[in-house]
Amino acid sequence: MKAMLIYNPTAGQIWQQFQPEMVKNYLQEQGWQVDVEPTQKISGGTDLARKAAQLKYDVVIAAGGDGTINEVAQGLVHTPVRLGFLPVGTTNVLAREFKIPLNYEEALAYLPQAESRLIDLGKLNQRHFLLMAGVGYDAEILMRVNKQFKNVAGKLAVFTSGVENLFHHTPFVLKMRFEDAQGKRHKLNRRVMQIFVSNASTYATDFKIAEQAVMDDGLLELHIFKSKRFRDTLYSLLSLLLRRHKEWVDFEHFSIRKLQIFARKPAPIQIDGDLVGYTPATIEIVPKALYILAPRQEDKAETP
Ligand SMILES: [Mg+2]
Repeated sequence: MKAMLIYNPTAGQIWQQFQPEMVKNYLQEQGWQVDVEPTQKISGGTDLARKAAQLKYDVVIAAGGDGTINEVAQGLVHTPVRLGFLPVGTTNVLAREFKIPLNYEEALAYLPQAESRLIDLGKLNQRHFLLMAGVGYDAEILMRVNKQFKNVAGKLAVFTSGVENLFHHTPFVLKMRFEDAQGKRHKLNRRVMQIFVSNASTYATDFKIAEQAVMDDGLLELHIFKSKRFRDTLYSLLSLLLRRHKEWVDFEHFSIRKLQIFARKPAPIQIDGDLVGYTPATIEIVPKALYILAPRQEDKAETP
């Protein structure tokens, strides 16, 4: 197995133990051939992953948080190269979704035993995402989080910004045009605090918003959180925190293939936890887009 290990040397790391050379030695003991490549600049992970595909590597291991993994994935779309995960960042939503162990030794041990899975990706304009796109409140939070503070304080920084944003947020009218799972076209205008377009089920570490989302069914799950005023937004946030949004909150759900969104005042958009721009935008499913290395099914059954 020929693998390239890509990591961001400047990212905030929660794994003090993470040493690229150690990972390399461990995998070489398992019979792998490993080349270590630190990222050099913004989006360096994408360029390195593309290079790995050209040089016919079997596997690219992305060591980092969700941002690093997303970057690397961009370079592997529609190639036979498999993406392996080493969750070494402040946010590990992606690793959780794929049931990658968050403990260092276990995460390393999963790689040589992993199995390949072919998954769908979402695509926002020209950029792919693994998990989800968020438009509105959650992207506003990311705009507020101070990067340095996030590296030190992690979840607390995001939470603080989440509360602070409540006093700045205004519900906005979003125009949506989309095609549902049956190919029927819809036009909706809704006053919202937030929409989520999910490829998978986990969001923001522990919040399960789209439980029915499966990553290989050729569909994205659109959740529209409606809000007319401050009180609605507050209520939505509380219910999401308490995981009671299904009972409490006015939201709509559609399984879709393609979505176009417009807002009078451009609304911010995040994908996989990174701010990427503003509306208008087109979001669509890219079926069978990426091979990943997932823990074997029997291992999954053992983990509670
Ligand atoms: Mg799906």
